[in-house]
Amino acid sequence: MKLNCKKCGNEINKLNLNEVQRFEILGMIQQDLKLFAIKKLIDDFGFNHKEAKVIVTHINSKNGKCQRCDYDELENENAECPKCGAFNYNLKEPVFNSDFCTHLEWKLDFENLGIESLKRYWCDGVDTIPYDVKSLSKENIEKNKSIITRAWIGEDGQGVYEMEIKLGEQSVENYKKELSLIDCIPDKEDKDWIKIEPENNRIQVYLK
Ligand SMILES: [Zn+2]
Ligand SMILES: [Zn+2]
Repeated sequence: MKLNCKKCGNEINKLNLNEVQRFEILGMIQQDLKLFAIKKLIDDFGFNHKEAKVIVTHINSKNGKCQRCDYDELENENAECPKCGAFNYNLKEPVFNSDFCTHLEWKLDFENLGIESLKRYWCDGVDTIPYDVKSLSKENIEKNKSIITRAWIGEDGQGVYEMEIKLGEQSVENYKKELSLIDCIPDKEDKDWIKIEPENNRIQVYLK
């Protein structure tokens, strides 16, 4: 069954994106790389150019917020805006997202590790784009329980580190259910969840 957007009258194609495709396409739209998103939809799904363009204009970049008006309480995916009638794909934010990375950055407390040389270390950011986006597939998370990305760490917060985020039982479950991982970050007081090797610019963090 085909859907129509009540605002522009265009026919809407249903999208069935896996975690990796959602991460990539939503990321492109949020960074205003719409032409790349169109190309990806053509390459990955065989849509023609017009169809892909219509899809991209109906992907709202912020979950809940209509792409055409100021309404910001859209609830489910494939939502029609009750205010202006526009169709919104309203894709859920990927589980590995900037909100999670920011929380992780805040929780990294090196003072608590009890290592004198690391006392003044802090983290200035965790990259929201992992080395390999394919590692974000649910199959991969279940199998390898790991996401590798970059982080900026040091006394000046600027050393480039390879950060491996290890997922525990709770985080794997949350990931499979597409629930946030923020609650899976251990408390600041917990000493055992951070393993850092400054000599190799490497860090591992263990989520619950
Ligand atoms: Zn429309
Ligand atoms: Zn609207």
